[in-house]
Amino acid sequence: MKDYLVRGTVKNRAIRVMACKTTDLVEVARQKHDLWPTSSAALGRMMSATLMMGSMLKDNEKLTVVINGGGPIGTMLCVTQGDGRIRGFVGDPHCMFTNNRTGKLDVGYAVGTQGYLQVVRDMGLKEPFTSQIPLQTGEIGDDFTAYYAYSEQTPSAVSLGVLVGVENEILASGGFMVQMLPEATDEDVAYVEEALKDFPAVSSLIHEGSSPEDILRKLFSDVEILGSQDLCFECPCSKASFEAGLMTLGKQELLDMIAKDHGCEVTCQFCNTKYQFSETDLLQLVADMEKSS
Ligand SMILES: [Zn+2]
Repeated sequence: MKDYLVRGTVKNRAIRVMACKTTDLVEVARQKHDLWPTSSAALGRMMSATLMMGSMLKDNEKLTVVINGGGPIGTMLCVTQGDGRIRGFVGDPHCMFTNNRTGKLDVGYAVGTQGYLQVVRDMGLKEPFTSQIPLQTGEIGDDFTAYYAYSEQTPSAVSLGVLVGVENEILASGGFMVQMLPEATDEDVAYVEEALKDFPAVSSLIHEGSSPEDILRKLFSDVEILGSQDLCFECPCSKASFEAGLMTLGKQELLDMIAKDHGCEVTCQFCNTKYQFSETDLLQLVADMEKSS
Protein backbone atom coordinates (compact mmCIF):
# COMPACT_ATOMS: atom_id res chain seq x y z
CA MET A 1 0.00 0.00 0.00
CA LYS A 2 1.40 3.40 -0.99
CA ASP A 3 1.65 6.30 1.47
CA TYR A 4 -1.31 8.63 1.40
CA LEU A 5 -3.60 10.80 3.45
CA VAL A 6 -7.37 11.06 3.50
CA ARG A 7 -9.56 13.78 4.92
CA GLY A 8 -13.22 13.88 5.67
CA THR A 9 -16.02 14.86 7.99
CA VAL A 10 -18.46 13.02 10.19
CA LYS A 11 -22.01 13.02 8.82
CA ASN A 12 -24.24 15.70 10.41
CA ARG A 13 -21.58 16.69 12.90
CA ALA A 14 -19.09 19.57 13.13
CA ILE A 15 -16.10 17.25 13.13
CA ARG A 16 -13.17 17.22 10.71
CA VAL A 17 -11.03 14.09 10.42
CA MET A 18 -7.80 13.10 8.74
CA ALA A 19 -5.63 9.99 8.67
CA CYS A 20 -2.39 9.08 6.95
CA LYS A 21 -0.04 6.21 6.30
CA THR A 22 3.61 7.29 6.10
CA THR A 23 5.52 3.99 6.47
CA ASP A 24 7.41 4.21 3.17
CA LEU A 25 8.43 7.85 3.45
CA VAL A 26 9.68 7.39 7.01
CA GLU A 27 11.72 4.40 5.76
CA VAL A 28 13.19 6.67 3.05
CA ALA A 29 14.05 9.26 5.73
CA ARG A 30 15.61 6.53 7.89
CA GLN A 31 17.85 5.36 5.06
CA LYS A 32 18.86 8.86 3.98
CA HIS A 33 19.69 10.05 7.50
CA ASP A 34 20.78 6.70 9.01
CA LEU A 35 18.18 7.11 11.75
CA TRP A 36 18.25 4.89 14.83
CA PRO A 37 14.90 3.74 16.26
CA THR A 38 14.06 6.62 18.63
CA SER A 39 15.14 9.20 16.05
CA SER A 40 12.98 7.38 13.44
CA ALA A 41 9.99 7.40 15.76
CA ALA A 42 10.36 11.09 16.60
CA LEU A 43 10.88 12.27 13.02
CA GLY A 44 8.24 9.87 11.69
CA ARG A 45 5.59 11.15 14.09
CA MET A 46 6.53 14.72 13.27
CA MET A 47 6.36 14.11 9.52
CA SER A 48 2.89 12.53 9.80
CA ALA A 49 1.59 15.50 11.82
CA THR A 50 3.24 18.05 9.53
CA LEU A 51 1.74 16.39 6.45
CA MET A 52 -1.75 16.44 8.00
CA MET A 53 -1.32 20.09 8.96
CA GLY A 54 0.07 20.79 5.48
CA SER A 55 -2.92 19.24 3.73
CA MET A 56 -5.00 22.17 5.00
CA LEU A 57 -2.72 24.78 3.40
CA LYS A 58 -3.73 27.01 0.55
CA ASP A 59 -1.92 26.80 -2.80
CA ASN A 60 1.76 27.74 -2.76
CA GLU A 61 1.90 28.04 1.00
CA LYS A 62 4.99 26.62 2.64
CA LEU A 63 4.82 25.08 6.08
CA THR A 64 7.87 24.66 8.31
CA VAL A 65 7.59 22.99 11.71
CA VAL A 66 10.46 23.18 14.19
CA ILE A 67 10.63 21.30 17.48
CA ASN A 68 13.36 21.73 20.05
CA GLY A 69 12.76 20.40 23.53
CA GLY A 70 16.31 20.54 24.86
CA GLY A 71 16.64 16.74 24.73
CA PRO A 72 19.42 14.69 23.14
CA ILE A 73 17.78 14.61 19.69
CA GLY A 74 18.33 18.37 19.29
CA THR A 75 16.43 20.43 16.75
CA MET A 76 13.91 18.68 14.51
CA LEU A 77 12.65 20.35 11.37
CA CYS A 78 10.11 19.43 8.67
CA VAL A 79 9.04 21.32 5.56
CA THR A 80 6.10 20.69 3.25
CA GLN A 81 4.30 22.70 0.64
CA GLY A 82 0.92 21.09 1.08
CA ASP A 83 1.45 18.94 -2.02
CA GLY A 84 2.17 15.75 -0.09
CA ARG A 85 5.93 16.04 -0.41
CA ILE A 86 7.92 16.42 2.78
CA ARG A 87 11.55 16.70 3.84
CA GLY A 88 13.04 16.89 7.29
CA PHE A 89 15.84 16.06 9.68
CA VAL A 90 16.74 15.72 13.34
CA GLY A 91 19.84 17.07 15.11
CA ASP A 92 21.02 13.67 16.30
CA PRO A 93 19.96 10.79 14.02
CA HIS A 94 21.48 8.23 16.40
CA CYS A 95 19.03 8.32 19.33
CA MET A 96 18.07 4.99 20.86
CA PHE A 97 16.20 5.27 24.16
CA THR A 98 13.58 2.93 25.53
CA ASN A 99 11.32 3.61 28.46
CA ASN A 100 12.20 1.21 31.29
CA ARG A 101 8.61 1.00 32.45
CA THR A 102 6.84 0.45 29.11
CA GLY A 103 9.69 -1.02 27.05
CA LYS A 104 8.66 1.35 24.24
CA LEU A 105 10.84 3.81 22.35
CA ASP A 106 11.13 6.89 24.54
CA VAL A 107 10.43 9.75 22.14
CA GLY A 108 9.50 12.12 24.98
CA TYR A 109 12.91 11.68 26.58
CA ALA A 110 14.80 12.10 23.29
CA VAL A 111 12.88 15.26 22.38
CA GLY A 112 12.66 16.75 25.88
CA THR A 113 10.06 19.12 27.29
CA GLN A 114 12.08 22.27 27.91
CA GLY A 115 11.42 23.92 24.61
CA TYR A 116 8.94 24.74 21.90
CA LEU A 117 7.01 23.65 18.84
CA GLN A 118 7.09 26.37 16.23
CA VAL A 119 4.98 26.61 13.08
CA VAL A 120 5.97 28.94 10.27
CA ARG A 121 3.49 29.44 7.44
CA ASP A 122 4.91 31.26 4.47
CA MET A 123 2.13 32.49 2.23
CA GLY A 124 4.47 34.31 -0.15
CA LEU A 125 3.84 37.62 1.65
CA LYS A 126 6.65 39.72 3.10
CA GLU A 127 6.46 38.30 6.59
CA PRO A 128 5.72 34.63 7.22
CA PHE A 129 3.19 33.83 9.93
CA THR A 130 4.95 32.34 12.96
CA SER A 131 3.38 30.84 16.04
CA GLN A 132 4.83 28.74 18.81
CA ILE A 133 3.87 26.93 21.98
CA PRO A 134 5.85 25.40 24.84
CA LEU A 135 6.24 21.63 24.43
CA GLN A 136 3.95 19.49 26.57
CA THR A 137 5.42 16.00 26.71
CA GLY A 138 7.82 15.86 23.75
CA GLU A 139 5.81 12.87 22.49
CA ILE A 140 4.88 14.97 19.41
CA GLY A 141 1.19 13.99 19.22
CA ASP A 142 0.39 15.78 22.50
CA ASP A 143 2.44 18.75 21.36
CA PHE A 144 0.54 19.15 18.09
CA THR A 145 -2.73 18.76 20.02
CA ALA A 146 -1.62 21.61 22.30
CA TYR A 147 -0.57 23.70 19.30
CA TYR A 148 -4.05 23.45 17.80
CA ALA A 149 -5.67 24.26 21.15
CA TYR A 150 -3.54 27.28 22.08
CA SER A 151 -2.49 28.69 18.75
CA GLU A 152 -5.51 28.01 16.58
CA GLN A 153 -8.24 27.63 19.22
CA THR A 154 -9.22 24.36 17.58
CA PRO A 155 -9.84 21.51 20.02
CA SER A 156 -8.16 18.50 18.41
CA ALA A 157 -6.88 15.02 19.08
CA VAL A 158 -3.69 14.10 17.26
CA SER A 159 -2.56 10.48 17.42
CA LEU A 160 0.74 9.45 15.84
CA GLY A 161 2.76 6.27 15.78
CA VAL A 162 5.83 4.61 14.31
CA LEU A 163 6.68 0.92 14.67
CA VAL A 164 10.34 -0.02 14.21
CA GLY A 165 11.51 -3.59 13.47
CA VAL A 166 14.50 -5.53 14.79
CA GLU A 167 16.69 -4.45 11.87
CA ASN A 168 15.70 -0.83 12.62
CA GLU A 169 13.44 -0.89 9.54
CA ILE A 170 10.14 0.99 9.64
CA LEU A 171 7.31 -1.53 9.94
CA ALA A 172 4.48 0.99 10.16
CA SER A 173 3.99 4.73 10.49
CA GLY A 174 1.03 7.06 10.37
CA GLY A 175 -1.49 8.98 12.34
CA PHE A 176 -4.91 10.50 12.57
CA MET A 177 -6.35 13.80 13.63
CA VAL A 178 -9.85 14.71 14.83
CA GLN A 179 -10.81 18.39 15.03
CA MET A 180 -13.88 20.17 16.33
CA LEU A 181 -15.15 22.82 13.92
CA PRO A 182 -16.25 26.16 15.46
CA GLU A 183 -19.95 25.22 15.35
CA ALA A 184 -19.41 21.93 17.23
CA THR A 185 -21.90 21.19 20.00
CA ASP A 186 -21.31 19.54 23.39
CA GLU A 187 -22.89 16.46 21.87
CA ASP A 188 -20.28 16.45 19.08
CA VAL A 189 -17.51 16.69 21.67
CA ALA A 190 -18.97 13.79 23.65
CA TYR A 191 -19.26 11.78 20.42
CA VAL A 192 -15.54 12.27 19.74
CA GLU A 193 -14.53 11.44 23.32
CA GLU A 194 -16.48 8.20 23.08
CA ALA A 195 -14.82 7.30 19.76
CA LEU A 196 -11.32 7.95 21.10
CA LYS A 197 -11.83 5.94 24.28
CA ASP A 198 -9.62 2.81 24.23
CA PHE A 199 -8.84 3.32 20.56
CA PRO A 200 -5.92 1.08 19.49
CA ALA A 201 -2.45 2.46 18.68
CA VAL A 202 -2.43 3.82 15.15
CA SER A 203 0.91 2.15 14.33
CA SER A 204 -0.56 -1.27 15.24
CA LEU A 205 -3.57 -0.66 12.99
CA ILE A 206 -1.32 0.27 10.06
CA HIS A 207 0.95 -2.71 10.75
CA GLU A 208 -2.10 -4.98 10.61
CA GLY A 209 -2.91 -3.58 7.17
CA SER A 210 -5.51 -0.92 7.94
CA SER A 211 -5.69 1.85 5.35
CA PRO A 212 -6.20 5.51 6.35
CA GLU A 213 -9.87 5.10 5.37
CA ASP A 214 -10.16 1.98 7.57
CA ILE A 215 -8.79 3.94 10.55
CA LEU A 216 -11.32 6.75 10.10
CA ARG A 217 -14.20 4.26 9.68
CA LYS A 218 -13.09 2.44 12.79
CA LEU A 219 -13.22 5.75 14.66
CA PHE A 220 -16.53 6.93 13.18
CA SER A 221 -18.75 4.53 11.26
CA ASP A 222 -20.50 7.49 9.63
CA VAL A 223 -17.40 9.21 8.27
CA GLU A 224 -17.54 10.81 4.84
CA ILE A 225 -14.25 10.76 2.92
CA LEU A 226 -13.82 14.01 0.98
CA GLY A 227 -10.39 13.70 -0.56
CA SER A 228 -7.00 12.04 -0.60
CA GLN A 229 -3.41 12.97 -1.32
CA ASP A 230 -0.34 10.83 -2.09
CA LEU A 231 2.61 11.36 0.25
CA CYS A 232 6.36 11.01 -0.22
CA PHE A 233 9.74 12.12 1.10
CA GLU A 234 11.24 14.41 -1.50
CA CYS A 235 13.86 17.12 -1.34
CA PRO A 236 14.03 19.66 -4.16
CA CYS A 237 17.78 20.22 -3.73
CA SER A 238 20.25 19.91 -6.60
CA LYS A 239 23.88 20.79 -7.20
CA ALA A 240 22.72 24.01 -8.81
CA SER A 241 20.73 24.97 -5.70
CA PHE A 242 23.97 25.00 -3.68
CA GLU A 243 25.88 27.16 -6.20
CA ALA A 244 24.12 30.32 -5.03
CA GLY A 245 24.98 29.46 -1.43
CA LEU A 246 28.64 28.97 -2.29
CA MET A 247 28.71 32.26 -4.16
CA THR A 248 27.47 34.11 -1.06
CA LEU A 249 30.70 33.04 0.66
CA GLY A 250 32.52 35.53 -1.57
CA LYS A 251 35.28 35.28 -4.15
CA GLN A 252 38.18 35.17 -1.68
CA GLU A 253 36.69 32.31 0.33
CA LEU A 254 36.18 30.29 -2.86
CA LEU A 255 39.74 30.98 -4.02
CA ASP A 256 40.98 29.81 -0.60
CA MET A 257 38.97 26.58 -0.97
CA ILE A 258 40.49 26.02 -4.39
CA ALA A 259 44.03 26.63 -3.13
CA LYS A 260 43.66 24.58 0.07
CA ASP A 261 41.27 21.75 -0.75
CA HIS A 262 41.02 21.83 -4.58
CA GLY A 263 37.24 21.65 -4.24
CA CYS A 264 34.57 21.14 -1.63
CA GLU A 265 31.73 18.89 -0.58
CA VAL A 266 28.35 20.27 0.41
CA THR A 267 25.75 18.20 2.26
CA CYS A 268 22.02 18.94 2.07
CA GLN A 269 20.74 19.07 5.64
CA PHE A 270 17.28 17.90 4.61
CA CYS A 271 18.13 14.76 2.67
CA ASN A 272 21.81 14.17 3.44
CA THR A 273 22.72 14.17 -0.28
CA LYS A 274 26.34 15.13 -0.81
CA TYR A 275 27.37 17.32 -3.73
CA GLN A 276 30.98 17.49 -4.90
CA PHE A 277 32.36 20.73 -6.29
CA SER A 278 35.64 20.21 -8.09
CA GLU A 279 38.34 22.81 -8.54
CA THR A 280 36.95 23.44 -12.05
CA ASP A 281 33.41 23.89 -10.65
CA LEU A 282 34.63 26.43 -8.11
CA LEU A 283 36.72 28.29 -10.70
CA GLN A 284 33.61 28.48 -12.87
CA LEU A 285 31.66 30.02 -9.93
CA VAL A 286 34.40 32.60 -9.41
CA ALA A 287 34.31 33.41 -13.14
CA ASP A 288 30.49 33.79 -12.96
CA MET A 289 30.85 36.15 -10.00
CA GLU A 290 33.38 38.25 -11.85
CA LYS A 291 31.11 38.40 -14.88
CA SER A 292 28.08 39.54 -12.88
CA SER A 293 29.93 42.08 -10.73
ZN1 LIG B 1 18.20 17.80 -0.22
